[in-house]
Amino acid sequence: MTSAATAPIAFIDLAAQQARIAERIDRAVMEVVHSCRFVNGPQVSELEEKLAAFAGAKYAVSCSSGTDALALILMAWSVKPGDAVFCPSFTFCATAEVVPYLGATPVFVDVKEDTFNMDPESLEAAIQVAIEQGLEPRVVIPVDLFGQPADYDAILPIAEKYGLKVLCDTAQGFGGTWNNKRTGSIGDATATSFFPAKPLGCYGDGGAILTDDAELVAVLKSLREHGQGVDKYQNVRIGMTGRLDTIQAAVLLEKLAIFEDEIAARERIALRYNMMLADVAKVPVVDRRATSVWAQYTLRLQPGVRDGLAERLKAEGVPTAVYYRLPMHLQPAYRQYPAAGAILPVCETLAEEVISLPMHAYLDEPTQDRIVDAVRRGLKG
Ligand SMILES: *Cc1c(COP(=O)(O)O)cnc(C)c1O
Repeated sequence: MTSAATAPIAFIDLAAQQARIAERIDRAVMEVVHSCRFVNGPQVSELEEKLAAFAGAKYAVSCSSGTDALALILMAWSVKPGDAVFCPSFTFCATAEVVPYLGATPVFVDVKEDTFNMDPESLEAAIQVAIEQGLEPRVVIPVDLFGQPADYDAILPIAEKYGLKVLCDTAQGFGGTWNNKRTGSIGDATATSFFPAKPLGCYGDGGAILTDDAELVAVLKSLREHGQGVDKYQNVRIGMTGRLDTIQAAVLLEKLAIFEDEIAARERIALRYNMMLADVAKVPVVDRRATSVWAQYTLRLQPGVRDGLAERLKAEGVPTAVYYRLPMHLQPAYRQYPAAGAILPVCETLAEEVISLPMHAYLDEPTQDRIVDAVRRGLKG
């Protein structure tokens, strides 16, 4: 029997959001269907203008996914074999995955104990490792993990010192701010994802690049259309099919219209979790220069506690997730690549201790209370 007290809770409730804007989404999607402009429809450029305005960037270039956004930027910068690209090890695999696409070498960097974002000291160490191995330091990819912007005050000067391009991976952090600037307006270029579970998600795969660099935009637009030149029958470089579908752009236009309101709701929900859980677990720390969009709400627990708690919560209908159970530098496909040190101690500890709770803009207080009660009980048991 399922009662309200044991009914399964959604980890991310996409249906609740859809119910709010169902009519508008239906109309927007059917408009594309009836127009038959499934590729490069007018909604795509309208979305690009609105994304750029939202982020405070000069340009947005939409594309097929967050991963392709990262790859397109590295392609446009002609990243090549022998180049080192610095990535935090505690991230989703796509951050580093795009580097070997181009034959370049990902070099893994440790993260900070408090924010779980790239550690600037470890970045310096990783740059030295790359130089010692005869690699050319080219790009750093700070990740705005779990919705919180990385420490750009520390990372940008290091990038400047070594002549690195800064590619911000804000797949989880789009809408967050650093020193009152939205992600997308920091660094040389920013990649974001519209995967459904991200704070701003579409109804399939999608992504975008934000930048102030007009020359980069021209190259990106060519790359996402098979490297086209003056028209699609001229190919001036090797590219890919990297466009965002018109239907996804139409969905995103409706979702972007309510995004500010959803960010405020996420903040309220996260602060309420903090208030109710700070005495039993290490609750997330947001740098005073940052605001988070709370892609995840992630607790850090005492060693050895996490997996038992997840089991007990599951039995009560409370889903949890572990982002990330294995840091990138320990993944079988990536172990061959260099890292800032023989071990990356913070990444390796976090992988054993973190757990993420249900988090989305439509998490109501009774449901949140149920989650909190279950966590508190679970940590005692
Ligand atoms: C989701 C994600 C990506 C990749 O986005 P896709 O749209 O799924 O390709 C890249 N980096 C990070 C940090 C992500 O969380």
